[in-house]
Amino acid sequence: QAKDSGRNAYQFFVPSMNKIVTTRMKVEQDLRIAVKQQQFILHYQPVVSLLTGEIIGAEALLRWQHPNKGLIYPDSFISIAEETGLIEPIGKWVIEQACRDLKVWQGMGLNLHVAVNVSSKQCKKSCDTPISTVIQQALQVNNVLAQYLKVEITESLLMDNSQDMIGTLQSIRDLGVAIHMDDFGTGYSSLSYLKQFPIDVLKIDRAFIEGAVDDITDANLVKAVVLIGHSLRLKLVGEGIETKEHLEFLKSLGCDYGQGYFISKPLFFENFITFCQQKNKNSSVIDEQVEIP
Ligand code: C2E
Ligand code: MG
Ligand code: MG
Ligand code: MG
Repeated sequence: QAKDSGRNAYQFFVPSMNKIVTTRMKVEQDLRIAVKQQQFILHYQPVVSLLTGEIIGAEALLRWQHPNKGLIYPDSFISIAEETGLIEPIGKWVIEQACRDLKVWQGMGLNLHVAVNVSSKQCKKSCDTPISTVIQQALQVNNVLAQYLKVEITESLLMDNSQDMIGTLQSIRDLGVAIHMDDFGTGYSSLSYLKQFPIDVLKIDRAFIEGAVDDITDANLVKAVVLIGHSLRLKLVGEGIETKEHLEFLKSLGCDYGQGYFISKPLFFENFITFCQQKNKNSSVIDEQVEIP
């Protein structure tokens, strides 16, 4: 009986599943060590104003520096971190590190914002420390103004016990931290979410941007999202700008901000600083600070 064998119950699965389970267990073990030893790093992808070309900030993207396997990307470990609850300490580290990095930029006179990705599990009432407290403390310890930090959520978060989530998002926003809706249009988009939830910015998923070049439906969807966003007084970010065509298309629609490989790939902290300094030198608008909500 599987029950009798206790912790080894997975031995009754077909071999391929056995392999998947043991791999996941190994990842989980490694991830626990990674949390203790802080084997994480943030890369920063520049976000530009499509109006001026100026860099207004960055999205912080998590990587795991595995001692044997090298750099691991979030799609390979975030879901395991969520299932095991490890996302809570990892997510806390992300928020704290982003605030430390913000502090360094500000010391250099770079008035940039940072957007951090947050998983729905981090926003649960059952967390050890409410996320708004984690954010508030990270801002305070580093003496960073809340307006420079942004929180990216996905639509799936809104499906999970909406009333609690509205409360959590509101408490984040009460600190002065804006909420950005990531990958907009790919989840279970409901226009009523835009009314119910305190959202400041919509990030149009890169799938639509990619499709817009030769698919008229995608192009029209992007247009419609920009119109809806603007009529609700939200700002828009186009994600996944990979070509000049993508960039020009979004500019022609009046989309406010953009990010993607065509502008820059996510960069190491130091390389991001260099990128900003070089870009600012070539930019005609250096003095005027663009505000992103
Ligand atoms: P996301 O938040 O939608 O981030 C954008 C992803 O698209 C990043 O992948 C980025 O490197 C990639 N990307 C940017 N520009 C382009 C482009 O022009 N073309 C293409 N093909 N891709 C582009 P990455 O870094 O692998 O992250 C994947 C996802 O992992 C993120 O999607 C986010 O959902 C999640 N993630 C990243 N960091 C964190 C974190 O700190 N916490 C949590 N909970 N999730 C995170
Ligand atoms: Mg994101
Ligand atoms: Mg995204
Ligand atoms: Mg994504």
